[in-house]
Amino acid sequence: MSTSGIATFASSLTGEVVLPRDRNYGKLRRVSNQAVNKHPAIIVRCADGKDVQLAVEFARDKGLLTAVRSGGHSFAGHGVCDDGIVIDLSAMKRVHIDPAHETIRIEPGITAGELDCLTQSFRMAVPLGSCPTVGVAGYSLGGGESSLTSKFGYGCDSIVGLEVVTADGKVLTVRAEENSDLFWAMRGAGANFGIATSLEFRLHPIETVLSGGLRYPIRQARKVLQFLDGFAPTIPAELFLTAAVLPHPGERMLDIKVVWMGEKKKGERWLSPLRKYLRPFEDTIKPKAYLDEQRGGFDVPEGYYSSHRRAGHFKRLTDDVVETIIEHASNAPHEASGITMMYWHGPWCAKPHDNAFGFRRTGFEFWIHSYWRKAAEREKSWDWVEEFYRAMEPLSTGAVYVNDLENEGEARVRAAYGDKYERLSLIKRKFDPDNFFRVNQNIAPATQPSRHAL
Ligand SMILES: Cc1cc2nc3c(=O)[nH]c(=O)nc-3n(C[C@H](O)[C@H](O)[C@H](O)COP(=O)(O)OP(=O)(O)OC[C@H]3O[C@@H](n4cnc5c(N)ncnc54)[C@H](O)[C@@H]3O)c2cc1C
Repeated sequence: MSTSGIATFASSLTGEVVLPRDRNYGKLRRVSNQAVNKHPAIIVRCADGKDVQLAVEFARDKGLLTAVRSGGHSFAGHGVCDDGIVIDLSAMKRVHIDPAHETIRIEPGITAGELDCLTQSFRMAVPLGSCPTVGVAGYSLGGGESSLTSKFGYGCDSIVGLEVVTADGKVLTVRAEENSDLFWAMRGAGANFGIATSLEFRLHPIETVLSGGLRYPIRQARKVLQFLDGFAPTIPAELFLTAAVLPHPGERMLDIKVVWMGEKKKGERWLSPLRKYLRPFEDTIKPKAYLDEQRGGFDVPEGYYSSHRRAGHFKRLTDDVVETIIEHASNAPHEASGITMMYWHGPWCAKPHDNAFGFRRTGFEFWIHSYWRKAAEREKSWDWVEEFYRAMEPLSTGAVYVNDLENEGEARVRAAYGDKYERLSLIKRKFDPDNFFRVNQNIAPATQPSRHAL
């Protein structure tokens, strides 16, 4: 890239170009997972959709490896690349609310925390995770799991329209009735097909919830997990349930978290057998504003920046699963390591839904995670995660949520999409035959056209 070529490109933008010699380059090249340490040749801080289009054309013209970033929270670090270009959308934060149709249209720089604040100001919500700094775009284009999912679906299920810049620099309106194949693919595998410069979501009514945690010493974990094995399959769609073996000052603990989205008295009745089964040392379940519940959610533990994780899915908390969890979780290398299990159920998991999201199944999603502060702690953390995962693998179904993956290869991406992979590969061939968008959980373009309709 010549200096004058970069200057001409920069002068065509409303946003700005950041180069390695610039003061803010060091900060802007970083993503959430500090274990990712990449040095792009150029970062484009886009101000609007036109900038995105110009950045795609520039990258194609110069043959640059291209990473796209909204919130920068990809565990794999896909919001940055070495030597190529980063198309950074984090400054694009325009919002349009349509109260009559109960929809909200956002630009991709909006984070989950920002969207929750906006929608809760009129007692509505888009199903979002509870980490406020995760980008709504990367989250929902990969699926989007939320405490609201069993009642209102995954984040991608609420997308009603998008504007997308494709690999050839075209701007497409993408809705059920327009570019319907791309509409199907963007909702669950979006990073592979283009850059969403605007996303429109259907809103859902939610104001208060009954939520909180039940905490048990690790010595009681076996009994409580065995109880959950029978309890979880009976719960209604209004109840979200997770279990985690996590640190607690002095000792590891089992932390059950619940969010009840229905009428309070009914929720108390449903939660009563769980609360009474074994007395926890802490019971924080109480009625709350939904926004307060979201604000108390998960983020990277303070002071810890680098992480490694492996994820999967199992159907039941059988004795083998419970023993494996207790054995490995009890030997965690330090306090910021653990296993989390989310129980997915209800109509949005059971019925086939017409989009690309490939992890729609009942049972427990799990992820084993470890964070570290100093490089010297990396190996111990990494090895613990890998060993724990190897023990869980034979007890798992093989399914995985695409947004849970690190850089784990083609077989795992195929596992994330299951029987939807072949159709995605054909749509990739249509919209991105050169695999321009490849800094992602990559779906290879089909090499042969299909005899079947897309
Ligand atoms: C602390 C933490 C908590 C999390 N909690 C949850 C949770 O509760 N539920 C859940 O489902 N997931 C959760 N995740 C996972 C999260 O959904 C994914 O990491 C998601 O991809 C992050 O999106 P992002 O925009 O922040 O990341 P980025 O790194 O910016 O992007 C992620 C991927 O999406 C692509 N992408 C980003 N923006 C666009 C766009 N506008 N158009 C096309 N492609 C784009 C990127 O190229 C990249 O491949 C969590 C992650 C972290 C680190």
